[in-house]
Amino acid sequence: MFLKKWKRIGFYWRHKINTEPPLSHMPVKLALFPLDFSSYNGCMLTHDMIRRCPKVELHDHLDGGLRPNTIIELAKETGTPLPSYEPEELGQWFARGCRQKSLPLYLETFDVTTAVMQTKEALTRIAREAMEDLAAENVVYAEIRFAPALHTRMGLNLEEVVTAVLKGLDIGGRENGVRFGLILCAMRHERPESTLEIAELAVAFREKGVVGFDIAGDEYGHPPKKHIEAFQYIRSKNFNITIHAGEAFGVESIWQAIQICGAHRIGHGVRLVEDMVAEGMSIKKMGSLAHFIQDRRIPMEFCLSSNVGTGAVESFQDHPFPLFFKNSFRVFLCTDNRLMSGTTLTKEFEIAVREYGLDFKDIEKITVNAMKSAFIHHDQKIRLIYDVIKKGYAELRREYSLE
Ligand SMILES: [Zn+2]
Repeated sequence: MFLKKWKRIGFYWRHKINTEPPLSHMPVKLALFPLDFSSYNGCMLTHDMIRRCPKVELHDHLDGGLRPNTIIELAKETGTPLPSYEPEELGQWFARGCRQKSLPLYLETFDVTTAVMQTKEALTRIAREAMEDLAAENVVYAEIRFAPALHTRMGLNLEEVVTAVLKGLDIGGRENGVRFGLILCAMRHERPESTLEIAELAVAFREKGVVGFDIAGDEYGHPPKKHIEAFQYIRSKNFNITIHAGEAFGVESIWQAIQICGAHRIGHGVRLVEDMVAEGMSIKKMGSLAHFIQDRRIPMEFCLSSNVGTGAVESFQDHPFPLFFKNSFRVFLCTDNRLMSGTTLTKEFEIAVREYGLDFKDIEKITVNAMKSAFIHHDQKIRLIYDVIKKGYAELRREYSLE
């Protein structure tokens, strides 16, 4: 029954593109089953096998991935009040927004993490630990993002903030053998002048590890086109743009991100499904935007736990990821906020294996999709794909007798 409603929305949206956004939105809900992914020689993928697969993480917020222990230690040093000083309980508190499908509760928790990220030492430590934690999941390349403007409350300037984070990523990356790039985020609700300042900052640090620019924050009432000058600046400098779009808001937001702001990647993009008509895993019809995204291989960063946790999608079963993956869109999996979503990249792949029947080859394909979509240069990507990723999967295949 819902599929009918959804089809209607699909058509509705194709006619509404370029016009006003909707007054309200409903969570994406699909009837996607039965799936027809094949199992890999009947092999069961265990947690350990998935953890050992080389992975690429392109959507991971620095202020959404702290260790509860670190938050407690830093809060004690600075006298920052916390809802709990017990690591497990604090972790639970951070995940409560996800449990209750509450975006406000989810977002509220960032006030706590950013409160303990106001000194150079804290920023360096947190960035270094992020690299350690990603290495434990066998992430071989990571693009970490954060909004520098949220870390100047105790007197640091923007350059100092970015330098401290890059230092931590560099140390942690070298110690753990993880390659990285840093993405600087501006906030949608901020004034366009502040956004331009962050865009200039990103370009100024391009030789030092910054690889791109993002705009994050509440989509409703804050269209990215308001910040057009910042995007034009980035494009004029031949730099990279990813934009959070199509998470809480529909096709219009994705269209604006790509066609007005020039996004090279889309963060989330789940609601692109409103620009197509599908039956199960088969796409019957696509609107021009969906075709454009598929034709131009525009990458979409999907975050399963985060999307379900914030209510952008009702359940894993309703998530459009398998529909896009099965139909050759360039999609891959990311964590978004490991702390608030209580997840890791290994867990995201486990969800996809369990819910959508993904196999070993699919995990490799998704990882290669992500690596192709990274913001580092082409030769570096090729080296990582052939010397690290494909080699790593070939070794695991041999070890687990998968061929
Ligand atoms: Zn995000």
